[in-house]
Amino acid sequence: MAQALTVIEPATEAVLDTVERAGVAEVDEAVARARAAFPAWRGLSPGSRAELLHALADALTERREELAVLEARNAGKPIADARGEIGMVAATFRYYAGAPERLLGHTIPVAGGQAFTIREPLGVVGLIVPWNFPLTIAGWKLGPALAAGNTVVLKPAELTPLTALRFSEIALEAGLPEGVVNVVVGPGSTCGARMVEHPDIAKIAFTGSTEVGRSIAAGAAATIKRVTLELGGKSPNIVFADADLAAAADSAPLAVFGNAGQDCCARSRILVQSSAVDRFMALLEDSVESIRVGDPLDESSQMGPLISAGHRETVASFLDADAPVAIRGSAPEGPGYWFAPTVLCPVDPGSRAAREEIFGPIAAVIPFRDEEDAVRLANDTIYGLSGSIWTRDGARALRVARALDTGVLSINSNTSVRVSTPFGGFKQSGYGRELGPDALDAYTEVKSIYYATT
Ligand code: NDP
Repeated sequence: MAQALTVIEPATEAVLDTVERAGVAEVDEAVARARAAFPAWRGLSPGSRAELLHALADALTERREELAVLEARNAGKPIADARGEIGMVAATFRYYAGAPERLLGHTIPVAGGQAFTIREPLGVVGLIVPWNFPLTIAGWKLGPALAAGNTVVLKPAELTPLTALRFSEIALEAGLPEGVVNVVVGPGSTCGARMVEHPDIAKIAFTGSTEVGRSIAAGAAATIKRVTLELGGKSPNIVFADADLAAAADSAPLAVFGNAGQDCCARSRILVQSSAVDRFMALLEDSVESIRVGDPLDESSQMGPLISAGHRETVASFLDADAPVAIRGSAPEGPGYWFAPTVLCPVDPGSRAAREEIFGPIAAVIPFRDEEDAVRLANDTIYGLSGSIWTRDGARALRVARALDTGVLSINSNTSVRVSTPFGGFKQSGYGRELGPDALDAYTEVKSIYYATT
């Protein structure tokens, strides 16, 4: 018999729901359902698959408020952010609804006939997603996977399974056939690991820690599974002295404290040119102190709690690092896993706070001398996910953008993610790309066909 899993609301520490917890047998059943549904789903005409994805986008839009409230409560994120995220999930399906009819190949001139390529779905795809943006990250994978004709088994994080479970019901209501989307709620160590080893899963698309990503890449080798990994980050936010410092300081806090810092794209290393550090810190202080940390369902909240007590302990351990606390915002007392937004300055580039992904609302301000020094410090990390460059010198902005080893960059902005642009990391931030046209490559195989004419 399935065990019960208690789902906690991080803002109150109260039980939010109880759901069935799957084991290896349930994973196997889900894979069998996905496998059985694959031939019909891949065989559907491209136009029919597109229509179903549009219907799914419509259904998600209709249920946006319900899903946003569920996500806000389960993941502890401000309701305004949760609404934006569910809107993005619907937009992701809308974007990929255009894909089935645009999965184009090439025609290639060869001797004695004609060669051409077509894109084929992989089969059953396993999606393993984290707790920080539960349905958003699932949507980034589901959209291209389904559009390309794959069926899926989705494993949400045990901490935040509720929107994924609701999504599977909505998908059926929208008309997706049984077995195309299968959700399994269970621990990564058993259910996730079974997905990685399962011989009938063709690919694992994973978002989470670099450590688990490494074990997935190793485990997938046994069956030569395709793998895409979207892992951790320690992204630089580079502020040159000639930048619009007010704009940079206004934008910097939410670029690291958004989602309470539990964001792989968090610009958690703020590199500031030495001559501008004092001016920047004065501006930053106002921005940080005005961040409203509180009840996720309060419309005015800008930051919620951390996901769990254990995670709060990990985040707090960085306050012991050898870096002075320069700015500390405020947070509610409890219950709830609250943590006040914190800025450390100046931070030694060799210290733990400068090198490790904190995944919480702690920013490290690191001074730099000049352009060369900024690039050296920015690249001095095992990660390479995102980053920002603030300067009024356009040529320098482009020089630095070219020099940074990172997958996603913004100039005079801190945004990272758009449905239509590729997203993913360099170095130990992972491989493969989500979103945009590139994501379709990760859910298809290229087949080369030669037709003899002589
Ligand atoms: P994990 O990498 O452990 O979890 C991410 C997902 O992987 C969850 O669904 C988890 O399942 C699953 N999982 C865990 N172990 C395995 C396994 N052996 N095989 C297959 N799947 C597995 O992240 P944590 O939740 O532990 O967070 C730890 C740190 O990771 C954070 O502090 C942060 O630094 C980083 N992180 C980065 C994220 C990103 O967006 N890049 C997202 C989340 C975390 P379950 O949790 O249900 O057991």
